[in-house]
Amino acid sequence: MLDIVPSFARIGEENAFAVLARATELARQGRDIINLGIGQPDFPTPPHIVEAAIKALRDGHHGYTPATGILPCREAVAEDLHRRFGATISPDRVMIVPGGKVTMYMAITMFGEPGVEILYPDPGFPIYRSMIEFTGATPVPVPIREENGFAFSAEETLGLITPRTRLLIINSPANPTGGVTPKAEIDKLIAGLARFPRVAIMSDEIYDQMTYDGEEHVTLLSYPEIRDRLILLNGWSKTYAMTGWRMGWSVWPEAAYEAARKLAVNSYSCVNASAQWAGIAALTGPQDAVASMLAEFDRRRKAVVAGLNSLPNVTCLTPKGAFYAYPNVKATGWKAKKLAAQLLEEAGVATIGGPDFGIHGEGYIRLSYANSLENIERALVRMKQFLETVRPAA
Ligand code: PLP
Repeated sequence: MLDIVPSFARIGEENAFAVLARATELARQGRDIINLGIGQPDFPTPPHIVEAAIKALRDGHHGYTPATGILPCREAVAEDLHRRFGATISPDRVMIVPGGKVTMYMAITMFGEPGVEILYPDPGFPIYRSMIEFTGATPVPVPIREENGFAFSAEETLGLITPRTRLLIINSPANPTGGVTPKAEIDKLIAGLARFPRVAIMSDEIYDQMTYDGEEHVTLLSYPEIRDRLILLNGWSKTYAMTGWRMGWSVWPEAAYEAARKLAVNSYSCVNASAQWAGIAALTGPQDAVASMLAEFDRRRKAVVAGLNSLPNVTCLTPKGAFYAYPNVKATGWKAKKLAAQLLEEAGVATIGGPDFGIHGEGYIRLSYANSLENIERALVRMKQFLETVRPAA
């Protein structure tokens, strides 16, 4: 027996990785598996980004970098934010971190402790709740509702704030729903937050470049009144198809930046030096690969939504962001996790059950359309056949 401290028993999981492992195992056994489970672009990182990393290695960038990231990389982030949103951010407020997740780890451990409450979207990225529980803080789910187009409600969010609330996590465009919260709703939230000046906000904007149908991403950086308590989470993983590079960035209020820097020094020291040079190339180089990836996601989005709506007892809203579809499967009679498990085992289609994203996820499954149009269409045929022939056990 090892005496691992009890808080580790409270750490959760991201079931997408378990589904990936099972799908890989079934494929290894010779099964033809179509993976609509994992949330990563199915494109390679654009070649000029790869070349920048190779060049950095050849040029001798082999050592430690500053814990907060090399200045040219932080400057590239600040310039990118200025170019896209007109936001003026000092590179001294930017941290380069090993993946988007690390910002949430830092922010939640910085504000979470027993006796405090942290609000997070539900359904939402599972690591929010897992990390909140790890710190001993009380997780307070903010329901994300289909009838609200999977946007968060400002009124409902504000109504859940208590004197114990320390941190509010929001995410738009959202995982797992693909929901995008409209500007009017965000305006309302920010106006209401004036009544709660001690509540910090972490805005997870990792899908900020992935919006469709002319939907504009609204960054929380465009609200100067909350800048002194806003932590912005973003990164290269989704936009530049760089999930395996582990490259993220965050913007911190002055008061929290030093704490985040110390956490970096105490854990990973710095992000891989050559990856940071690749990150600069991504932000400052041509953006046409991002545009063509998005156009392809858009084509698939339309196909997957049309296909899902033609399945028996399934309905699916058209997602406005990210690369996920989140159909309502309540009328099939299946429990969502059971349905996802059976779809993988019987039909060879990997999806994720809604409850893996929170207590409000029952009745839904998530499909990632980061797979070829051809595979998406094959998956839909299989799902149709499955739903027409297999009934849930009574
Ligand atoms: N935030 C959300 C909403 C995500 O969906 C993900 C990844 O799936 C992340 C953060 C983490 O990104 P990264 O792979 O860069 O750690």
